[in-house]
Amino acid sequence: MNTTARADAQARDLAARFEETFGAAPDGVWAAPGRVNLIGEHTDYNEGFVLPFAIDKRARTALRLRGDSTIRLLSTFGDQGPVQADAADLVPGAVKGWAKYPLGVAWALQRHGLDVPGFDLLLDSDVPLGAGLSSSHAIECAVITALNELTGAGLSAEDMVRLTQHAENAFVGAPTGIMDQSASLRGAAGQAVFLDCRDQAVQLVPFEAQESGLVLLVIDTKVSHSHADGGYASRRASCELGADVLGVKALRDVTVADLDEARALLDPVTFRRVRHIVTENHRVLLTVDALRSQGPAHIGQFLDASHVSMRDDFEISCPELDLAVATARAAGAIGARMTGGGFGGSAIALTPARHEQQVRDAVVRAFADAGFTAPDIFTVTPAAGAGRIS
Ligand code: ADP
Ligand code: MG
Repeated sequence: MNTTARADAQARDLAARFEETFGAAPDGVWAAPGRVNLIGEHTDYNEGFVLPFAIDKRARTALRLRGDSTIRLLSTFGDQGPVQADAADLVPGAVKGWAKYPLGVAWALQRHGLDVPGFDLLLDSDVPLGAGLSSSHAIECAVITALNELTGAGLSAEDMVRLTQHAENAFVGAPTGIMDQSASLRGAAGQAVFLDCRDQAVQLVPFEAQESGLVLLVIDTKVSHSHADGGYASRRASCELGADVLGVKALRDVTVADLDEARALLDPVTFRRVRHIVTENHRVLLTVDALRSQGPAHIGQFLDASHVSMRDDFEISCPELDLAVATARAAGAIGARMTGGGFGGSAIALTPARHEQQVRDAVVRAFADAGFTAPDIFTVTPAAGAGRIS
């Protein structure tokens, strides 16, 4: 089955299942992808640059508005029954489990002044959860795209980015930036999303790995990053401290040339945190230039340098991620790095297609030899952003 035929079949299946569950056909089916960040890690909340792309793994949501304020939510994931809530009584921080993502979106829309009635929702997703591919934003972006259309809210992509961020920050309680939803809402097939997190400006940059004889492998280490909230918060705090001491609005305003001076002003740990952000921003720009002028075969060095910076300066890697990266490189990848927030999740390895199998085999063997849980390894390609699929 080709990609379009498969998407159609998935949308039909989900609509049929919705009708079985809720007793009426959905108003439509919407999909939103997960994302992989090619480069630019922890730069988003420093008002810097990131270069993610929407992947060919998506959350799909069949949704029907109701005439009352009841919300019923069901996921094909797990076997618990529908979660019920009231659109007139959504309370931040009070919802546990996956329902907080769709309910957070409804709440953020209400806070934005929109009238969101009750709805029935069936969710299905093939974005692996907790792997650093942003399964949570895939859900939120599918839901906001559906509600935007059905309520006639007329929100722009930029509005939806801000509102899903508000949902995650204030309702879910996760202090995340704007990268994930920007990739999910604004991504396009064959393109990476070069995002300036200061003003949300987006430029699409061609990332046609396949055409250059390359594949992008994702190595999901299966190490959960869900308990890493403390690490994430402390990195953010270091960045804020660094910006304060250096007298800038955000670390985005510090350049590589300023680093010598910064070293004299900061304590050694804060300096290393700052150096990661400053050099990482620079690497994003170098990667964008290389993709535009030379193509994906020329970005390996930046991926490698990004990993070293996260491992040694930002200290957000872990033994499984380091092993995945080192093994992939030794087995033929031309560049590799951990991706996502860190402390677990996934690594990416840009690999000549002819070496794909040997990289996969080497990583599986290395994990077994180290006594680590077997990783999940798959390829991703840049795919379309969120939209209606039925
Ligand atoms: P990430 O976004 O990096 O994958 P998060 O911890 O932010 O990790 O989000 C993962 C959470 O998203 C899961 O714990 C679950 O609540 C929710 N989730 C993801 N996919 C599904 C799904 N198919 N059905 C229900 N909940 C899901
Ligand atoms: Mg998430």
